[in-house]
Amino acid sequence: MASKTYRICTLPGDGIGPEILEQAVRVLQAVGERYDVEFICTDALLGGIAIDETGDPFPPETLAAAKAADAVLLAAVGGPKWDTTDPDKPRPEQGLLGIRKELGLFANIRPVKTYRQLVGASTLRPEVVDGVDLVIVRELTGGLYFGARDRKYDVPGAGVDGAPGQQAYDTMSYSEYEVDRIVREAFRIAKTRRNKVTNVDKANVLESCRMWREVEHRIAGEFPEVENGDMLVDNAAMQLVRNPTQFDVIVCENTFGDILSDEASMLTGSLGMLASASLGSGTALYEPSHGSAPDIAGLGVANPLAQIISVELMLSYSFGMRDAADDIERAIEETLAEGYRTRDLADASVPADKVVGCAGMGDLIVAKVRG
Ligand code: NAD
Repeated sequence: MASKTYRICTLPGDGIGPEILEQAVRVLQAVGERYDVEFICTDALLGGIAIDETGDPFPPETLAAAKAADAVLLAAVGGPKWDTTDPDKPRPEQGLLGIRKELGLFANIRPVKTYRQLVGASTLRPEVVDGVDLVIVRELTGGLYFGARDRKYDVPGAGVDGAPGQQAYDTMSYSEYEVDRIVREAFRIAKTRRNKVTNVDKANVLESCRMWREVEHRIAGEFPEVENGDMLVDNAAMQLVRNPTQFDVIVCENTFGDILSDEASMLTGSLGMLASASLGSGTALYEPSHGSAPDIAGLGVANPLAQIISVELMLSYSFGMRDAADDIERAIEETLAEGYRTRDLADASVPADKVVGCAGMGDLIVAKVRG
C-alpha cells in the first residue's frame, strides 16, 4: 500500500495528445514507484474526441471527473477535422475555455527555461538566452479581457472625415481581491525559487495599474525575504529580449501576461519544451503550451517533453513533491546532454542514432527517473 494516493484526471484530447500523454503518465508512474505514492490516472473526454463521442467538446462527465480529481493533466485538443466557421457547430477549443472557466483558474504560471544544449534553437544570441530560468505569473480571469465592453455604430463624428462611424471600448478593471490572490501566488512561487518578484504594470498611465501596484507593494511587505521591484510593461517587453536572465518571477495583469508570456516563450525557441500550470481555488490544470500537432499525429515522432514538464509542474505545485519534480528536470537535462533529441529538436548536426521518437524519449526519461 502506497503512503499516499492522488487522483489525476487525464485528458488526452486530439492529434498527438494521446501519444505524449502516454509517455508523461509513464514518467509519473516511475515517480510514484520511487516515492511510494500511488497516482491513479483516469482518462476523460475533451475537445474533438469528445465531440465525436458525445457531440459536446466538454461533456458534464468530464467536468465532474476534473472537479473530483486532485489535478488535471491535459494534452492538447483540436485539428482540421473539427475546423468550422459555423457558429452553431461545436469546436474543440470550447472544451479548453470551458474547463478553464469551470475550474475557476485565475493564475496562469508559465515557466520559461532555456536548456543549455538547446540554446542554439533560439533566434536570440546564445549568450543572451543561456541561463534563462523565469516564470510568468499571469492573472487569468480579470482585466482587459473580462472588463465592460461595448461597440456602437453610427456615432456622430466617429467616422472618417467627421461622418458617423463606429466607436468601441474595453475596460481594464480589477478588484483588490483579484490582485491580492494572484500576487500572493507569485510570492509563494518566488519563495520556492530565487526569491525575486518583478511586478509588471503600466502604473504611470493606468488607474487600475496604480491600484495593482499599491496592492502588490502591500503584499511584498509580508515577504521581506523576497526581493521586489516594479517595471513598466513596455520596458519589460524590451528587457525580456535584452537581458532575460535578470528575471525570476514576473507577475502581471491578464493582457500584459498574454503578450509577455508569448514573447518569453520564444527565448527558448523550442515549443516542444514549454508547459504551463493554471491554478485556482480547487483543482489545478497542467498542460503543454503547444497544440495537437495534427501534421505529425500517429507518426510516433512527437516530442513528449513539454507534457512531461507539465507533470513536473503538477508534482511541484499541486503535490509539493519538489524533489520528484527535480528528478524529472535532471532526467531531461541529462538526456539532452547525452545528445538525444526528438525530430523537432534535432538539427543537421545530430547523428541519426541520437534522434528518438516519442516513446524513445519517454523510455530515456523513465529510466533516469527510476535511477
Ligand atoms: P501546434 O502547436 O499544434 O503545431 C505547430 C507546429 O509545431 C507543427 O508543425 C507541429 O508539428 C509542431 N509541434 C507542436 N507540438 C509538437 C511536439 N510536441 N512535438 C513535435 N512537434 C510539435 O499549433 P497549430 O498547428 O497552430 O495547431 C494545431 C491544432 O492545435 C489546432 O487545431 C489548434 O486549434 C490546436 N491548438 C490547441 C492548443 C491546446 O490544446 N492548448 C493550443 C494551440 C493550438
